Amino acid sequence: MARYTGAVCRLCRREGMKLFLKGDKCYTDKCPVERRNYAPGQHGQQRRKFSEYGARLREKQKVKRIYGLMERQLKGYFERADRMKGITGESLLVLLERRLDNMVYRLGFAASRAEARQLVRHGHILVNGRKASTPSHITSRGDVIELKEKSRRITRVNECLDAGVKRGIPGWLELDRPNYRGVVKAMPARQELTLPIQEQLIVEHYSR
Ligand code: SF4
Repeated sequence: MARYTGAVCRLCRREGMKLFLKGDKCYTDKCPVERRNYAPGQHGQQRRKFSEYGARLREKQKVKRIYGLMERQLKGYFERADRMKGITGESLLVLLERRLDNMVYRLGFAASRAEARQLVRHGHILVNGRKASTPSHITSRGDVIELKEKSRRITRVNECLDAGVKRGIPGWLELDRPNYRGVVKAMPARQELTLPIQEQLIVEHYSR
């Protein structure tokens, strides 16, 4: 299935919550979830009641949309998490958080994961001093993620960094703003991931 290229705010309205897909707009009162908190489409305002299957499906779709993944990719992450030690649902979320595009977003180089993905793809990001242009690259503890010297003049990146610093950087990352550099201090723990996701439902969905 091809990547979704339609209006992303519809995805948030479908899930009935903010997924922060659009960047700056998500933090303003122009956010459509604030204004029309019901599903898009003709029947969007009807009361929704999910079956067990429906609830699991929605949870899985939510994660897919937050991280901008396709079905096959998410399934791949689930299978990898399932082979890891520990709780599968938590391992899945940590794996997704370790993606390079997510780290670039969390460090504040971009206002959304989609924007971060573009920065990575266009070769603006270095990991441990080497160009990394694969958004799905899995980072590890101690990795240094930085903006290429030439790219430090990009106004948009500077605006995002300033806004990101104001919003706050997660505890497992360390940002050296003057040097456009971030370090992965540790792997995030589940309680540090404030995502409103019930990962157990995703595990149940894939374990059917
Ligand atoms: Fe979702 Fe952001 Fe659009 Fe609001 S503005 S609906 S949070 S993508």
